[in-house]
Amino acid sequence: MLLDYHTHTPLCNHAVGEPVEHCRRAIEIGLPEIGFSDHSPMPPRFDQWRMGLGQLPEYLKSVLRAKSEFPDLTVRVGLEADFHPGTEDYVQIVLAQYEFDYVIGSIHHLGDWGFDSPDEKDRWEKSDVGEVWAEYFGLVERLAQSGLYDILGHADVVKKFGYRPSGDVELLERKALEAVAKAGMAIELNTSGLRFPCKEMYPSERMIRAAREMEIPVTLGSDAHRPEQVGADFDQAVALLREVGYTNIARYEKRESESVPLG
Ligand code: ZN
Ligand code: FE
Ligand code: FE
Ligand code: ZN
Repeated sequence: MLLDYHTHTPLCNHAVGEPVEHCRRAIEIGLPEIGFSDHSPMPPRFDQWRMGLGQLPEYLKSVLRAKSEFPDLTVRVGLEADFHPGTEDYVQIVLAQYEFDYVIGSIHHLGDWGFDSPDEKDRWEKSDVGEVWAEYFGLVERLAQSGLYDILGHADVVKKFGYRPSGDVELLERKALEAVAKAGMAIELNTSGLRFPCKEMYPSERMIRAAREMEIPVTLGSDAHRPEQVGADFDQAVALLREVGYTNIARYEKRESESVPLG
């Protein structure tokens, strides 16, 4: 089984292509299952890169339309929800609006800094890279402990623009992964990092190897922000998963996971 659980829609204001187009692409490349995980609503003034709470029905409608149009393709309804301390109650309210198949938990902000946004890249130059990484992985731990999410999104996205600390980060990564394992969450192997300056999937080989050792289930995602990106570089992703010993992949329905053979 192969699936792409990380895809976006135009409602986030930085993606193109309706869900039906993503589905058409999935069928074209022989992918049997796709899930949508657009950026979830957050409290007012959080950022502009997401649907508003009032647009959630429109999102669901567009995904369900695709689902009914392609009966031979399994289509899942998910969300990519931010973890940002202080907004947990809001996230919980959003997640209660619909019976989602899965929820990806992602970190895109450290305080008021959208550290993975190209618009805010300059701030990296003024930051202590080691401190930023420590803060990021500390938040991943808290994300896992919150119990709100099923899958950790782009686990080491803090490397996106290629700013890497000189010190050893393995311990930080392992502590974060231990919290993920303890929470019973899965991790995704997200190929979108290959399209950015870090030129690596999220997470790194070292980290996905550690996840495998800890028996953390895995899903796959392209983080497609346009239909052509669905399933992008999945050959590389599957090869890496096999190399580190994964034989199975996790699928989700109504927030229950099932482990099925990979490939
Ligand atoms: Zn996005
Ligand atoms: Fe993300
Ligand atoms: Fe995403
Ligand atoms: Zn993402």
